Amino acid sequence: MVCHGPIMSVVAVWCGGARGNLWPVPTRALASRTALLQASPTLAITARAKQMKAEGKDVISFAAGEPDFNTPEAVCTAAKEALDRGFTKYTASAGTPELREAVAAKFWRENGLRYDPRQVIVTCGAKQAVFNSLQVLVEPGDEVLLLAPYWMTYADQIRLAGGQPVVVPCDPANDYQPDFDRLKAAVTPRTKAVIVNSPSNPTGAGFDRGVVKELAALALRHDLWIISDEIYEHLVYDFEPVSPASLGSEVYDRTVTISGCSKSYAMTGWRIGYLAAPLPVATAISALQDQVTSNPTSFAQCGALVALKLPDDTVQSMRAEFAARRELMLEGLASLSGVKTVPPKGAFYCFPDVSPYLGGRFADDAELAKHLLEEALVATIPGSVFEGPGHIRLSYAASREDISRGLERLADCLERAT
Ligand code: PMP
Ligand code: GLU
Repeated sequence: MVCHGPIMSVVAVWCGGARGNLWPVPTRALASRTALLQASPTLAITARAKQMKAEGKDVISFAAGEPDFNTPEAVCTAAKEALDRGFTKYTASAGTPELREAVAAKFWRENGLRYDPRQVIVTCGAKQAVFNSLQVLVEPGDEVLLLAPYWMTYADQIRLAGGQPVVVPCDPANDYQPDFDRLKAAVTPRTKAVIVNSPSNPTGAGFDRGVVKELAALALRHDLWIISDEIYEHLVYDFEPVSPASLGSEVYDRTVTISGCSKSYAMTGWRIGYLAAPLPVATAISALQDQVTSNPTSFAQCGALVALKLPDDTVQSMRAEFAARRELMLEGLASLSGVKTVPPKGAFYCFPDVSPYLGGRFADDAELAKHLLEEALVATIPGSVFEGPGHIRLSYAASREDISRGLERLADCLERAT
């Protein structure tokens, strides 16, 4: 019996049943693997908020994990030109040689990582890069360490690879830094890998060089793979992320480094992520991709090639705007009585502790988030989705005006409910 614990109960609250209404009981049995599946709660809540907006409701959404900026014009132009010149056929499954080279150059320029383009795989979003990595590294029964709160997709993808997520909680009072005593205690002979996500979705936590070194030392000591999801690497506030693979050849040899265009260049819909890994891992992933999706969309790759070469100030200006919104949201949250928020070092999420409002009218964060959406027309994601119960996630990838209005509504609603 597979138990999704708190995440499953969130799906139940939102979708009206233990597995939601997503899979009616089939007349003929589905593969047992489907019992491991659930719809992405972040996508489900974002879709619900969009649907309510379409019905004419003035919903303010802090749900979406995507920048609200337009994709830079030069990127769109490159994709249009690619279409016009007929660049609409299959490319190599692992991506065009030009793009793999540009990704390798990016890793050297920005992360101090030397990768041969053959070690680079372009994927359909960073989500597929994580999926592919787990598929080629995890055996049935293997355990993968997750630092909670974590992006829920990791746990689902680990299970789909036949593995078992092993959740190690991080304490907000310690800025969500890894607790190495707990981590060491969680390692067993079946532990195969650890997923590192700095800056983190949903907490915005960032690990400095000393912490990344300690994580790498743990991986070396116990012969673990490191899957380093660096998708938020450019969206940082007085924080400099460190790629584990840059810490020396021994760590490099056991690390898959993942990033992508979605968050840095406001390209979520383009579905272009990438990874770099030791050659045997990259080769296996390339073969996997051959059999699953083939290449990421040809003309989207042409856009990505331009994105990776954009002048720094394009990303800088988006980061500056996120920084201002972060301040605004932190100020608004600070005015809610009893609510504590660890200031995020990166990404575009605040993850306030709303436990003072739970246990009475709202049993838990899922009920509170549902009430906030239905009554205050403010969409947030319950923290339980990320194994961070007692919290809600608010994305500040929203206009300053919406942030101010949304937090006012939230304050009113919480006041009235208590
Ligand atoms: N990793 C993290 C931590 C994320 O929050 C997301 C959100 N989408 C992804 C990976 C996947 O990004 P993409 O849209 O490129 O698949
Ligand atoms: N990663 C984003 C989020 O956390 C996008 C949604 C998803 O892919 O689940 O909201």
